[in-house]
Amino acid sequence: MSDRFMERAIALAIDNVKSGSGGPFAALVVKDGHIIGEGTNCVTSTNDPTAHAEVVAIREACRALGDFQLMGCDLYTTCEPCPMCFGAIYWARPARVFFAGTAQDASDAGFDDSFIYDELRRAAADRKIPLIQMMRKEASRPSRSGRTKRTEKPTSWQSPLTPPARRRARASKARAVQCGTRCGPPPEALREEWSDHRPRESSQTGPSVHS
Ligand SMILES: [Zn+2]
Repeated sequence: MSDRFMERAIALAIDNVKSGSGGPFAALVVKDGHIIGEGTNCVTSTNDPTAHAEVVAIREACRALGDFQLMGCDLYTTCEPCPMCFGAIYWARPARVFFAGTAQDASDAGFDDSFIYDELRRAAADRKIPLIQMMRKEASRPSRSGRTKRTEKPTSWQSPLTPPARRRARASKARAVQCGTRCGPPPEALREEWSDHRPRESSQTGPSVHS
């Protein structure tokens, strides 16, 4: 963990707003002490609702590594990840994630993603965007049509660890959580930028420019 990397991410987020490129969020990926990928929110400038800072940074880092996973990497993000980025992080499998502002900070500034968690808890039929299953049998054909590229690698949480390694992993995880919630830079540096860059309309279908 290094304040230097989070300070860099916060600076990127501020520049992103000032340049009009997108929301006040940035992220970067670090491996062996070096930044291998950076991303800022560029949803509005690229008309890409998935262009959240974490996703952009993960894509850049994976390109740099020539791999689809970020084993042994740390991800720094200026705000607690939204549900989409949370999923992307788990697919990318970095070793640790450090965040500065909390989801509540983002919500207070007008970037609320709690509605997505609420939707996940609802039955498919009760969701605001209908999720309708169809052609299940036919959908199995692609996976039966040949070998697919292996997309799974052992992960630190799947690998059998020796007891000392398990203790170290637990301690490392505890430190990461503590640093993300207590030692990280205060979100005040971004609060003003957030308030100036709220989504155009806040609706139940949700803002589209979060982290
Ligand atoms: Zn996100």
